[in-house]
Amino acid sequence: MRIKVIFFGYRYQLLVLVTFVILVYVYVNLRFVQEHVQECQSAQQTPVIYIITPTVSTFEQKADLTRLSHTLRLVENVHWIVVEDSNTKTTMVANLLKESGLRYTHLNSPTDKHAKRFDDGVLISRGVVQRNEGLNWLRNNTYHSSTNGGVVYFADDDNTYSLRIFEEMRSTKKVSVWPVGLAGHLRFETPIVKNGKVVGWFAWAPTRSFAIDMCGFSVNLKLILDFPNVRFKSIQGELESHFLSSLNITLDDLEPKAKLCTEILVWHTRTERSIVEKNNVDKSIYIGEGTLNTEELKNVIRKSQSSIEV
Ligand code: UDP
Ligand code: MN
Repeated sequence: MRIKVIFFGYRYQLLVLVTFVILVYVYVNLRFVQEHVQECQSAQQTPVIYIITPTVSTFEQKADLTRLSHTLRLVENVHWIVVEDSNTKTTMVANLLKESGLRYTHLNSPTDKHAKRFDDGVLISRGVVQRNEGLNWLRNNTYHSSTNGGVVYFADDDNTYSLRIFEEMRSTKKVSVWPVGLAGHLRFETPIVKNGKVVGWFAWAPTRSFAIDMCGFSVNLKLILDFPNVRFKSIQGELESHFLSSLNITLDDLEPKAKLCTEILVWHTRTERSIVEKNNVDKSIYIGEGTLNTEELKNVIRKSQSSIEV
């Protein structure tokens, strides 16, 4: 009889223990599922910002892309579309994107540097071919979504972006606009806003239909998909204005952001081209006897094949 009680007791304790473990397991999993569902819901409510960045091989490229990637890491729900101006995707950019932790798409499309320098009689503007490649990708890989949607922004690799500009543009219904610092040889360019509506431009060549810099506007993804043939064309001084005009919008459709265009949240900064000594290689890399990295450094300076990326 006593043996039976003890036996029953052990069985009972074991049962309690197993039940407890199962309950903890179920609880932890439920919490995980719940958190995941919440995350998905909030991601669904937050429109994705598709950021199209043309980029070309320069001595400064890695520095520019590093800085931009670190900005974008601080922005919720972005998808970075990086389009290299090159015949092939480089490992430098591929690795930078992999390590960025961002959601991204890596594309390439070369600007023809020789044969077709001209597009409709005008020199091909910087980044045009690449931005169009980004637009192609969007049209082939995204769709109209009733709940979520997205916003498209053209972010060159050397500008300076306040984190706040991304939250401003996220609510874009058609086209949002805002001031741009250090653009058009002015301290800033801005849409002129009256009674909450854009009525004109304070900018270089203000008689253009949309006198605004590339980093001064964002477009709802739906509009990009609704006008599948709209692309950038290298029309001197009219790159942005022609693009926005093709989307069949009027001044009245523009949504002025950044406190009705009274704040500068993006700057058209330019990365100064570094002067890299070519003729003075041996002197400039002299770092003493028996150094192991001399050959590597020579290659770095000449920007040839090297295991050291700059
Ligand atoms: N770019 C490019 N190919 C080029 C020159 C520039 O893809 O031959 C890219 C560049 O990396 C940048 C954008 O196009 O993201 C605009 O170029 P840049 O910054 O030189 O133009 P700017 O600031 O003078 O308007
Ligand atoms: Mn630039």
